[in-house]
Amino acid sequence: MGRVLLIVIATLCIGVIWLGASGGGPTRTSAWGSQGAVAPASGLSGITQPMQRGRGLPGDPRPYGNPLQVSGTVMTQGYGVGTHAPAEIWGAVDLAIDGNGDGVADPEGTRDKPVYATHSGIIKTTPNSKPAGNHIWVTNDEYRTGYAHLARFAVSDDQVVTRGDLIGFIGSTGNASGPHLDYQVWVMQGGRWVNANPLDYGALDVAP
Ligand SMILES: [Zn+2]
Repeated sequence: MGRVLLIVIATLCIGVIWLGASGGGPTRTSAWGSQGAVAPASGLSGITQPMQRGRGLPGDPRPYGNPLQVSGTVMTQGYGVGTHAPAEIWGAVDLAIDGNGDGVADPEGTRDKPVYATHSGIIKTTPNSKPAGNHIWVTNDEYRTGYAHLARFAVSDDQVVTRGDLIGFIGSTGNASGPHLDYQVWVMQGGRWVNANPLDYGALDVAP
């Protein structure tokens, strides 16, 4: 009896030690942008491996251009700062629209405006996620882009899109103080997704 109790106590101790070790490490569990290094605890992304079926998709696999495609686009939070730090986990840019031409983004001009895919890929939607709200991944073998806080989706899971296809509408779902698009770019490097600066992929460039 005493021996059994000892074993139980020892097992509990090991459990506690293990929990402590895993809690203090660099593991990130809440980031929808964290799938590059660590499998998401919540299954938010649903995509942790390169998608072989993404091969041979029509169109350009490389992200390029402003996902809002309007000249009044304003970047309301830059890459790797504020809630976008550290960049390897949360790297993104926030985009909103100056609807009345005063040089400042405004909710009226931003809310419910269309969001377009910036490259070819396969759609994965996640409704009501935290902190990203209604979220879309567009993924192919080499690149993945994330579109967060959407008011609603214009596409559904496993749909194939190319650059310029309407995928959703700007909202303020999830953790957002107002309507804007949180836009991420990830690049497959050495078998893992690595966060990249969307400005290096023309995130403010509107197609002529
Ligand atoms: Zn953001």
